[in-house]
Amino acid sequence: NTFAEIDLGEALNQNIQRCKYVKPTPVQRYAIPISLAGRDLMACAQTGSGKTAAFCFPIISGIMREQYVQRPRVARTAFPLALILSPTRELSCQIHDEAKKFSYQTGVKVVVAYGGAPINQQLRELERGVDILVATPGRLVDLLERARVSLQMIRYLALDEADRMLDMGFEPQIRKIVEQMDMPPPGMRQTLLFSATFPKEIQRLASDFLASYVFLAV
Ligand code: AMP
Repeated sequence: NTFAEIDLGEALNQNIQRCKYVKPTPVQRYAIPISLAGRDLMACAQTGSGKTAAFCFPIISGIMREQYVQRPRVARTAFPLALILSPTRELSCQIHDEAKKFSYQTGVKVVVAYGGAPINQQLRELERGVDILVATPGRLVDLLERARVSLQMIRYLALDEADRMLDMGFEPQIRKIVEQMDMPPPGMRQTLLFSATFPKEIQRLASDFLASYVFLAV
């Protein structure tokens, strides 16, 4: 019933307390335990429901344990462990701000990359290392084509506002991105799909990207 009762790792629990989050919102109450149990998740949740924390907390918690895994050494290529895709620059920046607050003193490094802005600053950030990458689909495809990001090590994938991403025509980019993650061994990746609505196109995305998944509507 409170965040203090959920073991997310000491540093993250402290950050949550510092941000004065005491009680999980409904989507958090169900999504967080499901994610911590390692299940894929399709969640219908609106803006303002607390969905950002619902996918950020389990991802940060997982990455706190995995951030020291060996990553390939390829000059100028970043190997994030988690990817959060969102439709717009504004939303990506909001998610980045929130994720940064909650990863304070955890050693987990969060970087944001979005289109419509010069790429150089983003490239420099990526070169300094990244555990969690928050990105818009178009800019990420650009980074993949430049081989400045590899998705080979991705353990956690979150798609936020998936219905809006499809409305904006990002489905080809999203499919291209997810295809690059389908590396052996299978079952290494956990996927969390968030959408305000659940039309046929989102159902298709869910059945293509998620392993047997839990459906949550709040
Ligand atoms: P979101 O739906 O993720 O955009 O979150 C909506 C707002 O609620 C944001 O300003 C969050 O910082 C805030 N928020 C999310 N979860 C909680 C919580 N459990 N307790 C207090 N505030 C929260």
